[in-house]
Amino acid sequence: MDLLRKPFDKKYQNWMKAHLAVKITKEGIEPFVYDEIEQFQQKCLTDICKNNGLPVGTTCSSCCTENVVVCPTNRICNAGRGRCNFHRNSATQYRPSGCPNKICHNFKNEIQRAHRFYGAAYKNTDATQWCSNTWEVAKCFMPPDGYKNSTSATETDFNGIIAVLMNYRAFQSKVHADLSKQNNIFYQCREVSTQITHCPSMQVSDADLRHYFGTLRSILTDPAYLASNRDAQIALRRLVELENEEQVSDDETRSPLHSEIDAEESAKHQEETRSQTDSSMDVDKAQEQKTTVEYPEDRRKTETKHSETGYIEIGKPRPYFPGLSRTMAECKAVVVYCEDGGLKVEVVHAVEKCERKSKNLDRVTMHYTGFLENGTQFDSR
Ligand SMILES: [Zn+2]
Ligand SMILES: [Zn+2]
Repeated sequence: MDLLRKPFDKKYQNWMKAHLAVKITKEGIEPFVYDEIEQFQQKCLTDICKNNGLPVGTTCSSCCTENVVVCPTNRICNAGRGRCNFHRNSATQYRPSGCPNKICHNFKNEIQRAHRFYGAAYKNTDATQWCSNTWEVAKCFMPPDGYKNSTSATETDFNGIIAVLMNYRAFQSKVHADLSKQNNIFYQCREVSTQITHCPSMQVSDADLRHYFGTLRSILTDPAYLASNRDAQIALRRLVELENEEQVSDDETRSPLHSEIDAEESAKHQEETRSQTDSSMDVDKAQEQKTTVEYPEDRRKTETKHSETGYIEIGKPRPYFPGLSRTMAECKAVVVYCEDGGLKVEVVHAVEKCERKSKNLDRVTMHYTGFLENGTQFDSR
């Protein structure tokens, strides 16, 4: 049976490495991005208090985003003939008289001015938290959709982090690359990340992998700041180690990576799962069936370790990789195959402590690649 051999394929290993490389790079620049936005947030508050004669430390948490964004605003809302979907009720109308504490409208103007394209993403952010939560400010610099639920840097994907870097104009002072140029290295890294994320074949050639690693390294060695930044240099070392690894290790301690939710991907997968009820499968049932599968002991030892040929994840739909995911507590990996005319299921990975086991009628999302006995891939999702 060729099914279990497939994960050892070089190109699949390359794809896993590429995925890990993006995550490592993201962790390397995450603190840098957070710190800059935190400084911006504090500077906004200090300046607003000073310019309006307010006592130092004055904040406001009572204005929602809709209260500070005028209606209509291009690309955000347009009342048209009916009621505006953004300013949908009396509590969410624009306040022409401004924030009662003289903070939020001014804060909005500061964010607007700090955005490279004056196009802050107000749909993502919650203005009631601008004074208290740095990441709600950071989200104004992310793409306009898909980041509403990213409540921290850890929960934000690489593209979101990169967008903050490119769209918050003041980052230019800490970056050697010219961020106003279309094809700057941060832009290229975002392209790399997109290519890896949207790679249904889950295969990457050696040449592409070299290109990916080279591009990712280039931002971690940006001479203006990151080249001497501790987190970036730790990430760089891990990238070099990863690139030289024969096979991606499943030692979880090697790579203390944060779990991440790619909001766009997550929504997409959930949508796919909803529309594909026949792809749903009860995992516990699969586990029960494992007793029907018998492998020679030696083969089990050598092959189960990396058998991610088909895998199922409960809860957050995101890929399962050894050494990568802290959400593995919610994961099982199974291999389903046909033998002697019957369907067999083997659980090749299951966590010891699973707090939320799947039950009948649960909808679970799975990523899988199907191979014919001759090794031909017939499906991947
Ligand atoms: Zn509106
Ligand atoms: Zn306010």
